[in-house]
Amino acid sequence: MTVYLVGAGPGDPGLLTVRGAQILAAADVVVYDRLSVSSLLELAPAGAERISVAKAPGQVVMSQGDINALLVARGRSGQCVVRLKGGDPFVFARGGEEAAALAEAGVPFEVVPGITSAIAVPAYAGIPVTLRHSSTSVTIVTGHEDPVAGDEGSVDWDAVARVGGTIVVLMGVARIGAIAARLVAAGRAPSTPVASVTWGTRPQQHTVRATLGTIADAELESPATIVIGEVAAQNLTWFEARPLFGLRVVVTRARRQASAFAARLADLGADVVELPAIVIAGPADGGAALRRAAVALAGGGYDWVILTSANGARRLLGELRDARDLGGVSVAAIGPGTERALAAGNVVADLVPDRYVAESLLEAFPAPPPGGGRVLLARAAVARAVLPGGLRRAGWDVDVVEAYRALPTELDASVLEAAARADVITFTSSSTVTRALELLGPSRVPSVVACIGPITSATARDAGLRVAVEAGAHTIEGLVEALVGHLAEVRAPAEAPNPPPKAASRDKTRGPGPTPCRENGR
Ligand code: SAH
Repeated sequence: MTVYLVGAGPGDPGLLTVRGAQILAAADVVVYDRLSVSSLLELAPAGAERISVAKAPGQVVMSQGDINALLVARGRSGQCVVRLKGGDPFVFARGGEEAAALAEAGVPFEVVPGITSAIAVPAYAGIPVTLRHSSTSVTIVTGHEDPVAGDEGSVDWDAVARVGGTIVVLMGVARIGAIAARLVAAGRAPSTPVASVTWGTRPQQHTVRATLGTIADAELESPATIVIGEVAAQNLTWFEARPLFGLRVVVTRARRQASAFAARLADLGADVVELPAIVIAGPADGGAALRRAAVALAGGGYDWVILTSANGARRLLGELRDARDLGGVSVAAIGPGTERALAAGNVVADLVPDRYVAESLLEAFPAPPPGGGRVLLARAAVARAVLPGGLRRAGWDVDVVEAYRALPTELDASVLEAAARADVITFTSSSTVTRALELLGPSRVPSVVACIGPITSATARDAGLRVAVEAGAHTIEGLVEALVGHLAEVRAPAEAPNPPPKAASRDKTRGPGPTPCRENGR
């Protein structure tokens, strides 16, 4: 079958093409490099084979000849083979050699171009590689070859210098000093701006600014895309200026619920570590009590149903046999997340309190009718007694039914390690606090603790944590907002928006420097 040479883009998983994603989803085997992003590998079917041909600098695990032979063999065996390559497969990626080997062996292949780091990484650093009038060409050149030795077939740096315009050097960190000297010797001014962007398009992106005269003394780190020319003075910063950029943030929600939250944090620039501290499971009795309650609801056995989570709402709606079973019943939701889950089942909540906590729901809840009334409370197995206690004191008959359980998960040491190194940990329920503490131990909880509301905060405080951020509105969006607000307060004021390039300097605009806030004494 076909071998696909697929460009993965420079790192940001969103920069994979639609065609690349479709082909990955159909892969039997994925052959990938060191710089491949793990979330892209997850796009392949769970059962697909994943083969790393890790090429680290100075260390080749598999030779190019072996990689070619592997692609030919797998292609011949009838598998759908994806050769995933960073950036574009035909830009300094030896995709040309792989395609030639496949052609020679008579194995069908297709090329799926990718977004090359040569263009995209400067863009993420706020540098357009061309500008009308001032920079009218761009030369993409490898910095891998020795600019002094003058090997056969090596780069003609004098010619590159004479072309003018923008020069983008890939694989140039080790030799940038010699390259700069050659360009100056060939007539480019020592004051020519240079920008080196490491780990571009990723949460770790950072930009070093210098000139041809000073770049040799700058501390550069691989992998970097180096831009030389007038455009390198541009600093139309956006990626590194996002409010959570450079921060590693732990999300402790159950995996199924985490993704929207994680995506929102990532959009704001955070490097998100998912630590699914709990997993949502069905009730211990297999749902028998919930089913009985649903039947009673249908028979008019309740005046009110109260739902305190989206999980509970979904589970109860799932047990109804007929939408009209809720016909004579009023429905209360603790907050907007629960309200949305109900709305997804075409049920409009009759009551949502101002503050999204049990106490506020109690205050807003009506008194029972003169002859007494019944309330069904469908919620997690372990939950606070505030709601049923308060309702009973108010005169209601209350049935508490277990709709789901939040169970502890076991996690990989590498995930725990990444979480322990984070700057911020977010908690969206008391159960996530308890379980995260068990998993990490109190001394490895990240320094800034951010909680969705007062109950979760109280659990965190009781466990000895200092809570730096508490959401005003007790929703995911409220938590994100509170976190952004907190960081804006503690972070140093930003520099002027477009500082001129100076001698070699790491952009301090908002780079991933030292942790901006220390809250738990670390
Ligand atoms: N085919 C790739 C280039 C492979 S050569 C492409 O089209 O992008 C590897 C070089 O690409 C690295 O040494 C570095 O110069 C550049 N590069 C790749 N990913 C990068 C990233 N995320 N940030 C900065 N430079 C990157």
